[in-house]
Amino acid sequence: MPFSVLKPALYRETTRYRPAPRKGISMNNPVLRSIPSVSELLESPPLRRLVDRVSHNVVVGGVRTFLDNLRRDVQSAAAEMKMPAVGELAEKIADWIVHEERPTLRPVINATGIILHTGLGRAPLAADAVQAVAEVASGYATLEVDPTTGERSQRTLGVARLLTELTRAESATVVNNNAAATLLTLTAVAAGREVIVSRGQLIEIGGSYRLPDVMTASGARLREVGTTNKTRLSDYEAAINSETAAILRVHTSNFRVVGFTEEVPIDELVRLGRRRQLPVIDDVGSGALISLAAYGIHDEPVVSESVRCGADLVLFSGDKLLGGPQCGVIVGSQSMVQKITSHPMMRAMRVDKCTLAALAATLRLYRDPQSLERCVPIFQLLATPMANLKNRVERLAPQIALCPAIASADPVETTSFLGGGAVPAQEIGTWGIALAPKAGSVADLSNRLRTCEPAIFSRVQKDRVLLDLRTVFPAQDIALVQAIETLGDKLQPAATPPAKTETKES
Ligand SMILES: *Cc1c(COP(=O)(O)O)cnc(C)c1O
Repeated sequence: MPFSVLKPALYRETTRYRPAPRKGISMNNPVLRSIPSVSELLESPPLRRLVDRVSHNVVVGGVRTFLDNLRRDVQSAAAEMKMPAVGELAEKIADWIVHEERPTLRPVINATGIILHTGLGRAPLAADAVQAVAEVASGYATLEVDPTTGERSQRTLGVARLLTELTRAESATVVNNNAAATLLTLTAVAAGREVIVSRGQLIEIGGSYRLPDVMTASGARLREVGTTNKTRLSDYEAAINSETAAILRVHTSNFRVVGFTEEVPIDELVRLGRRRQLPVIDDVGSGALISLAAYGIHDEPVVSESVRCGADLVLFSGDKLLGGPQCGVIVGSQSMVQKITSHPMMRAMRVDKCTLAALAATLRLYRDPQSLERCVPIFQLLATPMANLKNRVERLAPQIALCPAIASADPVETTSFLGGGAVPAQEIGTWGIALAPKAGSVADLSNRLRTCEPAIFSRVQKDRVLLDLRTVFPAQDIALVQAIETLGDKLQPAATPPAKTETKES
């Protein structure tokens, strides 16, 4: 039945929409005439009840839109179309409005195993950070005033103190994200002049972030040196001229050049920069404040290491391995950070009180590294022992196997990914549940899991839908099973177009 409005996501699993055959109504016009009026529908109990939950205006608007779509469908529909009774139609409309009124941004279960999934919001915040946001969000706060003097102060002062303490840098500031940090830094330091970058480090991080384009936008000129696989100190040295403003090193977060390769370490770049009086900027990407070797992550540069080597500016994201809110952090020498914060573009990239509160609360947890695994979600996920994951998988798999949409559910030992623009080669062990669907393809099942409440994001691996428990919080285990239980055993037409689950950047 070409009743598109009657089969949004909600109806896929229901068989409730079975309009009783009504004799005599077989032509298009009579069907149109049989559509109840807005006021008749609003009097109907399902919609009267809904007015108490969402506003009257939303319900009236929803009824009108639904009926408009219905009329359009009726006009293009086959002659045998039947109109449901008022009560039934009102119930469909009520369900549809509830479905439409859900926020587009809502919580999901991340069973992809990608710890820093950009599409799913990267790092979940620590409870302390959430509380700090709640405390400043609903009222006024000391954002730019010093309460002891009453004088105007800088909004990033508090986090800057924590950042310099934790990274040992002289000075620090915070902007909207690392892309902003890079753009602002290049603009303030090198607009109209040249910045030297190794050809092996001209990265793209997810479609919209390409270093050469950011460089162009900043007004600085890219001076590429070396080759894709090998760049030597002499290459940098030969490129320095009167137009050179800085040397930039970029962490090749999401790819590796392996084999016959050579990169110049940051300390050697710093020595060259000092000798030629050029600032050295280090974009370390994911902003690990401590070594993550204990979790099997070996290739992520530690911020304080870069500072110790003498980089004049170190740039990184707040919502990757730091485990905080989306922001871009710039740490470095007093004079260079000052140059950046006094640039007019700084104002256009500044962060709000919520970001600052969340970042400061997250950074405070780093003062006691023992507490990180307990308090910061990404560390909690990274630190979950294999035995714990295996236990949960063995407990949940038999329950999921009983769900009507599932033909089989088997525990499997596999690998999780760091994501967030980090290299996919990092080996993080995990346990997952491999699902085979009762009907349709694995891609269909993975699409249908996203229509659950809450939505479940999985990954397709080896002809199975994999639920990777590394990124599922234990408190979500029950909700995971209950959501899968709601899926029927038949493949119904999907209301949402099948989309790719995996993000390119992740
Ligand atoms: C992730 C990343 C960026 C972009 O950071 P955002 O915070 O997403 O803007 C820039 N450079 C490197 C090296 C990265 O890894």
